[in-house]
Amino acid sequence: LLNNTPNVSKPRYVRVNTLKLDVELALQQLKEAYKVKKDDMVPDLLVLPPGTDLHNHPLVMNGSLFLQGKASSMVAVALMPEPEWEVLDACSAPGNKTVHLAALIEGKGKIIAYELDKKRVKYLEDTVRKSGANNVDVIHGDFLETNIEDPLYSNIRAVLVDPSCSGSGTIAERLDHLLPSYIKGHTSDVDDAERVKKLAAFQRKALAHALSFPAVERVVYSTCSIFKEENEDVIKSVLPLAHSLNFELGTPFPRWPRRGLPVFDGAEHLLRMDPKEDKEGFFIALFVRKSIPSKSEK
Ligand code: SAM
Repeated sequence: LLNNTPNVSKPRYVRVNTLKLDVELALQQLKEAYKVKKDDMVPDLLVLPPGTDLHNHPLVMNGSLFLQGKASSMVAVALMPEPEWEVLDACSAPGNKTVHLAALIEGKGKIIAYELDKKRVKYLEDTVRKSGANNVDVIHGDFLETNIEDPLYSNIRAVLVDPSCSGSGTIAERLDHLLPSYIKGHTSDVDDAERVKKLAAFQRKALAHALSFPAVERVVYSTCSIFKEENEDVIKSVLPLAHSLNFELGTPFPRWPRRGLPVFDGAEHLLRMDPKEDKEGFFIALFVRKSIPSKSEK
């Protein structure tokens, strides 16, 4: 019953690593051999026909291009860090978004990249090396244990929280005809429900922690899950804290048509990708701080 055939209708995306190669130059070079165009939303993303295999392309091998999907490439852009900013990536490996952030801050400022899993720290280091970024501090540790009062973090202006999740947005791509409940954004069986509950507890903690850094102005939360429990419910649960710290929900990619499930007022700010429409399930939320509360307001 399982449909194991690869999804042939999904375009292939490559992100240009602007630390090494200019987008226009990448476009020109790829045009010699492929049908390629710029993505209509992500400025450093190129779109190629489904099935295009660039794994062994010299520009991929030398880190000028990263094989990175559209949803994944939207995350760092949604955070929109400015050059010179210090940015914290809470859950980093294998590091695709970390090095995208490094490219967006134009090799200036600093990225602090946390990763809990020792093996995955190696992948993260490999990705950073390949990207040519020289302003990424990789830290093997638990993001939840970081002390927000440590002077090391006093200038962190943006935090990316891309936590471990159920991956149901990618599972659904393969199993959509079998599991209609996945598509509706709900977990299907008891084991799943238990696992998702645990993941959601971690996701809530990580997001709340990210919002608590003293100088942070922008926080992005993303998952490749389609479950409401890991997405809208997580956002809803941190809203009281977010509001007390003067954050409001921003609207990542306002032109994108699919938004959050309407579980609270303001969920229309959230961004969803749909496994049927977009060939992958994904979720992005953005918090923007209006002003930093003074000590007496806190
Ligand atoms: N952002 C990555 C990328 O784009 O390449 C993908 C991140 S993956 C969804 C989540 C990562 O978070 C995993 O590598 C996992 O080991 C790590 N992780 C889980 N709990 C963590 C924690 N408490 N502190 C730091 N990293 C954690």
